[in-house]
Amino acid sequence: MTTRSETQTTLTHLLTEIEHRNPAQPEFHQAAHEVLETLAPVVAARPEYAEPGLIERLVEPERQVIFRVPWQDDQGRVHVNRGFRVEFNSALGPYKGGLRFHPSVNLGVIKFLGFEQIFKNALTGLGIGGGKGGSDFDPHGRSDAEVMRFCQSFMTELYRHIGEHTDVPAGDIGVGGREIGYLFGQYRRITNRWEAGVLTGKGQGWGGSLIRPEATGYGNVLFAAAMMRERGEDLEGQTAVVSGSGNVAIYTIEKLAALGANAITCSDSSGYVVDEKGIDLDLLKQIKEVERGRVDAYAERRGASARFVAGGSVWDVPADLALPSATQNELNEADAETLIRNGVKAVSEGANMPTTPEAVHLLQKAGVAFGPGKAANAGGVAVSALEMAQNHARTAWTAQRVEEELAAIMTSIHSTCHDTAERYGAPGDYVTGANIAGFERVADAMLAQGVI
Ligand code: NDP
Repeated sequence: MTTRSETQTTLTHLLTEIEHRNPAQPEFHQAAHEVLETLAPVVAARPEYAEPGLIERLVEPERQVIFRVPWQDDQGRVHVNRGFRVEFNSALGPYKGGLRFHPSVNLGVIKFLGFEQIFKNALTGLGIGGGKGGSDFDPHGRSDAEVMRFCQSFMTELYRHIGEHTDVPAGDIGVGGREIGYLFGQYRRITNRWEAGVLTGKGQGWGGSLIRPEATGYGNVLFAAAMMRERGEDLEGQTAVVSGSGNVAIYTIEKLAALGANAITCSDSSGYVVDEKGIDLDLLKQIKEVERGRVDAYAERRGASARFVAGGSVWDVPADLALPSATQNELNEADAETLIRNGVKAVSEGANMPTTPEAVHLLQKAGVAFGPGKAANAGGVAVSALEMAQNHARTAWTAQRVEEELAAIMTSIHSTCHDTAERYGAPGDYVTGANIAGFERVADAMLAQGVI
């Protein structure tokens, strides 16, 4: 029987090895640290998990594909981007995870996202493995025709690697309904197959699930509500700061309002908006989803209650709840100090890894309820899996049915994380609970399936 401290030493050695073997991938190192640093109690308690090679296999993607994506802009100039698909772990089902189009994308970013996705997907209790992909293409300012040509070129290579039983991509930053449409069209054309389950986040009427666009934001608010219930409170009357103004942020704001809370901010890479009356969602959707504009336009059109702050940190705005919904490492130690000083009660991650490790530590130490993304934002991928189920059955469920399933899944994820943390001596620590519970499910499947 290995002790907890011997196990911790082994895991620390493994982390050094991961940094050595994956140079210049700081986001992947960060994600690996975040998980492995919490596993000692479960590996010490269950000797089968100390089997040599198990965790080494878990941190090595099953397959990594990198490819050239050439495309022509509206003036006929040729651009060359880089495409990625990291198929990380398929012990529980086909690889599943979104595609990100953003200039900051590189292999390390995709690996961090793919690694997180393994545990997140396991926590949903559904049969989906972990993967992620994307490109350093920047869709901002590009015409529809340029985005279409880019998506077609991207899929002309990607189609070889995906399939409804193999790997099922979806959206992420820079990839929404428009991009999924162009990607699906090109897949169908090349393969000559109507294979609805190859992509999720599709449009209504051609295989998309109701509530998929809303699922990540709605799910995160349900997770925050469950954490607040543990503290004997609900969301009614609470104020919230939300970052981002994309898919996740918009439906986070919508669900907060539905549960009686008031989101007073949103942001994009140009700055943030504070609206003392609460964000007007119709106006925000018009600017972001229809006009594809910037958040300063919101403040201009909203009137006296709203102001735009260029640059700056949205976390300076006092509120009861914080729901980071933009990107990784957007909430740092100084932001956490400000939030704590302003009396924040809960932080729930809609984005992936938006809170730096130092900030997580500070928040937890101050007794703030902290919901890590791999649990709190799992509603999106969960409804993607429900979209796959509907595609396989060639049927479409009602919005009410999908929403009920989403609510049940989020409740179950919350209680799994909560109870697992308690079982391993870390009550109230959702990070430890999420990591251990996700790990147990994947590790058990990997052990049962042999050394592959
Ligand atoms: P969108 O592209 O719809 O929106 C992203 C938002 O974040 C935009 O407002 C964007 O502003 C802002 N943003 C992105 N990068 C940066 C940056 N480097 N600095 C400042 N602001 C930035 O993406 P989603 O809403 O889909 O995704 C948001 C987060 O949620 C990501 O972390 C994603 O991985 C995570 N997530 C998404 C899921 C989904 O179902 N879509 C599921 C689970 C997690 P700008 O337009 O100026 O770039």
